[in-house]
Amino acid sequence: MVKQTIKIFARVKPTKAKACLYEIDEDDQGLPKLTFNVPREYADGFINNKKENYKFRFDKVFDQKTSQDEIFENVAKPVVDNALQGYNGTIFAYGQTGSGKTFTITGGAERYVDRGIIPRILSYIFDKVEQEPDLTFSVHVSYLEIYNESGYDLLDPKHEAAKLEDLPKVSLMEDNDQNIHLKNLSVHQATSEEESLNLLFLGDTNRMIAETPMNQASTRSHCIFTIHLTVRETGSATIRRSKLHLVDLAGSERVSKTGVNGVLLTEAKYINLSLHFLEQVIISLSDKGRQHIPYRNSMMTSVLRDSLGGNCMTTMIATCSVEKKNVDESISTCRFAQRVA
Ligand code: ADP
Ligand code: MG
Repeated sequence: MVKQTIKIFARVKPTKAKACLYEIDEDDQGLPKLTFNVPREYADGFINNKKENYKFRFDKVFDQKTSQDEIFENVAKPVVDNALQGYNGTIFAYGQTGSGKTFTITGGAERYVDRGIIPRILSYIFDKVEQEPDLTFSVHVSYLEIYNESGYDLLDPKHEAAKLEDLPKVSLMEDNDQNIHLKNLSVHQATSEEESLNLLFLGDTNRMIAETPMNQASTRSHCIFTIHLTVRETGSATIRRSKLHLVDLAGSERVSKTGVNGVLLTEAKYINLSLHFLEQVIISLSDKGRQHIPYRNSMMTSVLRDSLGGNCMTTMIATCSVEKKNVDESISTCRFAQRVA
């Protein structure tokens, strides 16, 4: 049996709104299904009373009550276990701004139970370090932000003081074997869970510094937290190396052309394009006949090049906000997820 390496999940963000326009059930083959029952006026701006059903199948649909721990167990753990065996992996969160991408990938800052996928993965890895005395682990992390196709190092010590445009840009270099190297992206060793969490925290703080209420930079950029793992068995020459990318994508919402200034429009164009190139790459990976995978089209797909497809596990979580005003965007989020599935 061919190992299924692309998994697509949906997560519904908790809402207090009473009107539920969605339901989670199974299709006739027993596969999880998310359905939006949308009055037409919400679907395409026409007002009539007919309801439209939009049905989407996923590997699993997580409802509003799903805990961060369940997300870790179902979504992240298989990818980390695979990485500990030496295979690269990538987890994306895709969805409109406010739908829960950062909550899912990094977590909420206030409560311990709200820790997201990254801190839980780090904990899990360092638990393994303790449990397996016959294995020698080394863990390194890097944290890259991609804004308008330029890369910035979120762990650069200068970040705190500087504006984005004053920082050295991260650039891509390809060696003779076509491996991608990232110039100006620092890689930091973490020897304990605490050290690794401090690095995550530093990067997240730097990510927010550039932000004002008017310019929510973090929702307009893609952030990639990468864990580089090396596992060596005592007395054995074999070394397992792998990379895990945890990707908090830029908000996927369509920006209407009216009332949008130049900066926002430029950002929106970059975001649309990079999400489109990501889609193209994932689609062409699952097309067995395809020889050429268009990685070079964008910075993100270049960075992720050795961690998508093949033996790598690729996982996408489509985050959905189900309030009336957001259902349209959630439908397009699910459409994106279906196209890459
Ligand atoms: P995004 O990164 O997609 O823009 P956020 O992750 O920042 O969205 O989520 C928006 C808000 O909703 C945040 O205040 C976040 O804490 C909250 N939130 C999102 N998902 C959940 C969830 N599953 N449970 C509780 N709060 C959530
Ligand atoms: Mg966010």
